[in-house]
Parts: sequence; structure tokens; C-alpha cells
Amino acid sequence: MNFIEQIIEEDIRQGKNDAKVHTRFPPEPNGYLHIGHAKSICLNFGIAKKYNGLCNLRFDDTNPVKEDTEYVDSIKEDIQWLGFQWAAEYYASDYFDQLYLWAEQLISEGLAYVDDQTQEEISKGRGVPTAPGVESPYRNRSVEENMDLFRRMRAGEFPDGSRVLRAKIDMASPNMHFRDPIMYRILHATHHRTGDKWCIYPMYDFAHGQSDSIEGITHSICTLEFEVHRPLYDWFCEALRIHHPQQIEFARLNMTNTIMSKRKMLQLVKEGYVNGWDDPRMPTICGLRRRGYTAESIRNFAETVGVAKRDNIIDVSLLEFCAREHLNKVATRTMTVLDPVKLIIDNYPDDLVEEMEAVNNPEDPEAGTRKVPFAKELWIERADFRENADKKFYRLSIDREVRLKYAYIIKCTHIVKDDAGNITEIHCTYDPNTRSGMPDSNRKVKATIHWATVKYSKKAEVRIFDRLFAVPDPDNCEEGKTFIDNLNPESLKIQDGWVEPSLTLEKAMGIKYFQFERLGYFYADPDSTEEKLVFNKTVSLKQ
Ligand code: ATP
Ligand code: MG
Repeated sequence: MNFIEQIIEEDIRQGKNDAKVHTRFPPEPNGYLHIGHAKSICLNFGIAKKYNGLCNLRFDDTNPVKEDTEYVDSIKEDIQWLGFQWAAEYYASDYFDQLYLWAEQLISEGLAYVDDQTQEEISKGRGVPTAPGVESPYRNRSVEENMDLFRRMRAGEFPDGSRVLRAKIDMASPNMHFRDPIMYRILHATHHRTGDKWCIYPMYDFAHGQSDSIEGITHSICTLEFEVHRPLYDWFCEALRIHHPQQIEFARLNMTNTIMSKRKMLQLVKEGYVNGWDDPRMPTICGLRRRGYTAESIRNFAETVGVAKRDNIIDVSLLEFCAREHLNKVATRTMTVLDPVKLIIDNYPDDLVEEMEAVNNPEDPEAGTRKVPFAKELWIERADFRENADKKFYRLSIDREVRLKYAYIIKCTHIVKDDAGNITEIHCTYDPNTRSGMPDSNRKVKATIHWATVKYSKKAEVRIFDRLFAVPDPDNCEEGKTFIDNLNPESLKIQDGWVEPSLTLEKAMGIKYFQFERLGYFYADPDSTEEKLVFNKTVSLKQ
């Protein structure tokens, strides 16, 4: 049980909130969700599920300039793909009328004022935590004047940035968020939902707690950077005398070789460093999905990482481990050759084609078997042959034997090279008695290798990814450089693969998750066509 669950169980024991649990996931629709959000989603929806409660999806859409319905749609898709369903879908903008009334209420009680200072003057007046700030010359305006000015702000009489509404709290507080925080700013911008109805917009601190309150949220879970906002969250709920949810903070997820900021991800997309938000190298949920991560593996990752109270950095290899663990159970096995060299079985009949029975998933007997054609000329991996093999190399070499998976034991006799010295053909003989069901089928050799027929296999495009960032902490860069300078120039390699002929477009897109035997886990990419399948490498088989 993590510390948040401990708090919740204690609240239930004490009958707080009628022993009910109601959480929310509050994304700002200004970008696509990333693996850090997945952590928050698993936590909020997971808690609601565990305690028979509810979890809302609330779009925190108080900044019209950066928000868009494209992001709203992607966020909903990603949450559902992760396996969660919200009890209700809300928008902070649904509460603009109520928030406005609450602002007037605070003005009328002398707890808010209109400040005509510039942003710089306001920042300067706040000062530093170790010394009291300076009060605004507009701080002691009358209620009437404040009300009049605020209404005229709303009516659109003033330009952007000319005035703000501030809460009148304590300019000497050691907590900087208490030094008369801004509640409303003027912004003549079209909102993705409310259009041009408003030209003043509430700040996060004046919107978030009240939105939680309106929805009857019991536990408002957020990341640690909001710990210093909590006194203000509490202050607004108390000043307005409304339902008071409990804010609880946990450490955000940080991961090596990854950036986790929507602003930076947007830059990668806009400036063309990646091929969109769902580029399989991106830490976005849609990128991970397209890379071939399963929702279950991401949920397991979130569970394994746990909920911490202090910031830490998780190694990206833990995420890869979780992917392997689940994919091993569900991925359909197939033989694909990625770096082919031709193998010719000299004593195999020229026109014979045998159908070899191959196991779809050794971890899942119900996955059954399939037939793979076998013929005289095959592709094998270049790396599975070595001309000058030492004793530690167990695979194919001249005069040595290996088993061709699901087929025969072969023995290499000689090789053919081109003028440049590259091996163009590997010749061998096979032993007909070693096929499964034959007398010598159990004869042991040191290695089994995979193969594809030259004649029947299909050429596919295979996208091999490396880490998007070459260094563990991309944000940590020298003077004058940015995280962009830490991009790994080798993060994408495109090559051909020779896949089994039975893999049609329909079949590949239906199965989605594959293990290319001996090579790794691969995902059928939506770019696939009848002519050419496209696969993304998710992870290798071993670290
Ligand atoms: P960004 O800085 O990338 O814009 P954000 O925190 O502003 O991210 P929001 O849309 O406000 O993004 O986040 C929605 C929810 O997800 C918030 O409750 C936030 O605390 C949580 N969240 C965001 N990033 C992480 C993370 N790395 N780990 C855990 N939770 C996160
Ligand atoms: Mg945010």
C-alpha cells in the first residue's frame, strides 16, 4: 500500500466524505499525453477502482492560447487505450461562470482587488521569500471601484496585460504564492470551447481547487511542484466556504534518456526532429503504442515504479523490461530475416516445397501453429555464419552443423564470395532424417537458427529505433546548448526484412504484436500496405 492509499484508507475509516472516494485526472489539452501522465492516470483511476470510487476526466482548459480540440481527442483516446473509463468528462471552462461569480464574491468581501501594475511591477513587488514584499499602490481600492473595474475587464474595455485581479492575502508571507496571487488576467483570445465569450481567464490556482470542489472530488492528487500551492488551494476553498477536497502530492515520474514536457515534445514535432506526436521514439502514450508497447505493460510499469514522495529518476530499461515481460506472453512468433545472406541446400530437391509446422506462441498453447514453406534456397542472418569461427561461436561455419528452426539439421560445405570478398552464397547439405517426426529429429546440435525462403518470403520495411536522446539526462546541457543538442542522430534506422508469406496485411494488423524469433519484439505499423508491411522494433529480446 502506498502513502496515498494509507491516507485514503484512514479517511474511509473515519467516515470522511461519507467514506467515498472521488478522484480526477486533470490534463491541460495543450499537447499529447506522455508516460508521466500515464503514471498519474494509473494512480487516479487505479485508486478510484480500488476503493469503489469514481474518477473524472477534467480538461484544465484555462489557457486558450495553447489549447486545442485535437489534444482533447488524443487525450481521451489514450486514457481509454490504457484501459480506463472516466465517470464524467468535464472542462474547467464549464465553470467559468461560477468562477466569475466567486471572484465577485471575494471582491465584495474585500478579499480581491484589481491591480493596474505591469507584470514586471507585480513580480518585483512580490520580492524574495526572505523579506516581505511591497504592497501594490492599488491594493486598497474600494470594493465598488474593484467591482466596477473587474466588470469592465470582463466587458472587454481593457487591453491584454493592462490589469489583473489579485487575491488580497499577505504580501509578507514566506510562501510566495500567498503574496496576493493573480486570480484573473485579460486575454483577448478565442477559446476552443467558449469561443469569444470571455476575454478574462482564471489562473490555475483560482480554477483548479474550485473545479475539484464543484465536482465533489475527495482527494486531489497532483505532482510535488504543487505542494507550495496547497496553502492557496486551501485558502480559496475556505474563503469561498465551499467543499474542500484534500490535495495530496506525489513525485512526478522522471525517466532516463527521455524528456517529459509537452512544450519540448511540441518543439520536437514542430521542428521535424520526429515524425509527429506518435513517432515510436517519442515518450508519448501514442508513440509508445505505435512502438508496440501494450497498455498492460505500461500499467505494470506504473505499478512497479510505485508512488514516491521524493523526486527520483527511473531507468528507461525498467519500462523495456515491463514490455518484454508482457510481450513474451502475448506476442505471436514469426521468422523474419533482417540481414540476409543466401543459404543453398545442395542436396535438397530443386522444386520441392515442404510445409513446416511452426509454433505461434510457446507461452500460450491455445495460440496454435502455422505452416511455413521450406525450400532449397533460404535467407539466413549474416551474423549466423562466421567463416573463421572460434570455439565460442556455435552457429554456422564450414563443416559445422546447425538446426534450421522447425526443419532440418544442415552442414555447411563451402561458401562463395564476390570480388569484394563479401559472402554471397553459403552452401550446405541437409540430413532428411532430422525433420520433426523423423528418426533423428532429436539429434542435438549446438544452435538453432531461423530462416526465410528466398522464393516465398515477403519483403517488409523494418524500422529499428534507438534512444531518442543519447544521454541519460537530456535537459542537462552545457552553456549555449539545449536538449535538442542531445538528440541521438542514430535513433532511427530503416531496413528490409524477409517475412513469412502467410503474413497478409489483414493478418499482420490483426495480430499487431510479434516476436521475430531470436531478434526481438516488433509491432505492425499502420503505414503497412498490401504491397509492403511495415514493422517497428519495440524492444530486443534481452537487455
Ligand atoms: P507538462 O509540463 O509536460 O506540460 P503538465 O504537468 O503541465 O505537463 P498537465 O496536463 O497539467 O501536464 O498534467 C495532467 C496531470 O498529469 C497533472 O495532474 C500532472 O501532475 C500529471 N503529470 C504530469 N507530468 C507527470 C509526470 N511526469 N509524472 C506524474 N504525473 C505527471
Ligand atoms: Mg500543468
